[in-house]
Formats: sequence, structure tokens, C-alpha cells
Amino acid sequence: MELKDFQVVDRDLPEDLLPAYLQAESLAVDTETMGLLPHRDRLCLVQLCDPQDHVTVIRILQGQREAPHLKQLLEAKNTLKIFHFARFDIAMLRCHLDIQVAPLFCTKVASKLARTYSPRHGLKDVVLELEQIELDKTAQSSDWGNALQLSEEQLRYAANDVRYLISVHKKLMGMLQREDRWSLAQQCFEAISTMALLDLLQYKDIFEH
Ligand code: MN
Repeated sequence: MELKDFQVVDRDLPEDLLPAYLQAESLAVDTETMGLLPHRDRLCLVQLCDPQDHVTVIRILQGQREAPHLKQLLEAKNTLKIFHFARFDIAMLRCHLDIQVAPLFCTKVASKLARTYSPRHGLKDVVLELEQIELDKTAQSSDWGNALQLSEEQLRYAANDVRYLISVHKKLMGMLQREDRWSLAQQCFEAISTMALLDLLQYKDIFEH
């Protein structure tokens, strides 16, 4: 697969990169972690991609509790943060780095609202259909814990997870508008922060009978 360049940094977004990212009207964001439970499992990587395809992979170190530049960016009101399954990533970012991400767009929720003809809403499926690009997910379940010694393959995988999200977001937004589900989608995106907070507090199914 052809790859464009990306940069790898430690602990936080460098100060000199912050202004350019803050100017972007939208940003793709993803994380890699040790597992699926925020209170148990470490946050290992945060990947960013702006509309000009500038990809930065930030390695989060063991015991690290803050990343001030990243926090400023992910909480910036004028920049839309696009995730695939935001509910998990924003819970991780809140739990480990005290970041409250907003505003946000979730391509998984958007796909479920717009692509009702398909049962498949994984990132690989959505990118394949909308971008005609086959993502290699073989590194998905690998050991992200040794941040400073990740293989080039792992870093490339992590970078590719954010590379197509902005384009996917645009196409899904078009579909949501066409199907008259854009307002519903926005309400769902606003609700995701609350759902992530409930997840962190370990509430289960409080809306069930
Ligand atoms: Mn990922």
C-alpha cells in the first residue's frame, strides 16, 4: 500500500505543530490502547490527521497523566474532532489525560444512521466502501505498551487509522443530509460524551426498563 509520511512524537503535540492543527476546521483522531477497559488499560498512542493529510502519532508514556497541547487542541471549540467509535476513544482520553473532547463526530454512529443497507460498520468496511481503500488491520490487536519500541508496521497501521476519516466524514455527512438524518446525527454526537462518562462511572444500561 502506498503511504504518505507521518511523524512520531513523544508525550504531547509539540508546541510548533499546535497552531496549524488549531486552524483546521476538522481533525481525525484515533487512539491505541492496551485494552478496552479505561480504568485498567493504558492509553498508548494518540493519532491525529488534519485536512491536508498531516499525520502525527503521539506516543503516551507509562505513568503520564497530562498532555497540555493535545488537551488544548481536542477541547478547541472551532475544530471538529472525527473518530470511528468516539465513545471509547473519548473515555480513554478523559480517563488518562483529563481531556474532554468536543465538538465531535463519530463515523461509526454516522454509518449506522446513514448506511442502513449494510450490517457492517467497522472502520475497514466503511473505508472500503466509501474510499475504495483496503485497510490492513493485522496490527490491530498487537502490543502497544512499549511505546518507544513500536515497529514501523505498527506505527504505519496507527497512522492509517486516521488517514481516511476526514474524507469518510464528508461522505457520511452528505448521506445523512440526503436521508434527512443530519439533525438526529448531531443529537447522537452530543450524547456520546454523556455515554462515555456513564461508561467511565461504570453504569450499565441505565436506559433499559
Ligand atoms: Mn486505531
